[in-house]
Amino acid sequence: MAAPDLDDRGVIITCAACGQKNRLAYERMADPVRCGRCKQMLGLPGEPIEIRDSAAFDRLVARSPLPVVVDYWAPWCGPCRMVAPELQRVAARRAGRVVVAKVNTDELADLGQRFNIRSIPTLAIFAGGREVSRVVGVRPAAEIETLIDQATDTVQR
Ligand SMILES: [Zn+2]
Repeated sequence: MAAPDLDDRGVIITCAACGQKNRLAYERMADPVRCGRCKQMLGLPGEPIEIRDSAAFDRLVARSPLPVVVDYWAPWCGPCRMVAPELQRVAARRAGRVVVAKVNTDELADLGQRFNIRSIPTLAIFAGGREVSRVVGVRPAAEIETLIDQATDTVQR
């Protein structure tokens, strides 16, 4: 499945059955919807989402009812390539329950500066519109999932 895109209102997902593009509003990302054309059930795909501008990042983290795991990375960073498949695994296993977002700190230097990202890869977990957890360095998928659980427990309490 193609990686989903973002617009100002939500995530654009392509229906696997008919190819129709559908928008899943940020506020409703946790709820499955039906394809507007063929009525197939659609949900947030189990794929990392590439963030293309800081406005999209802000909308996503502010409105998402799901925890958002942000991967700050850059193409020249070797360890980032090691953490990428781990995040793919997290996104696939937690499809519809967690959003994995990738921020290329070369292209989105303003976000790297705003969040004071000093080394990459850095993983940050956002819940309820704010950053609740951050780790630096390569982590296996299972450890990332534990961090998500811990971070979201903190928010719910
Ligand atoms: Zn369809």
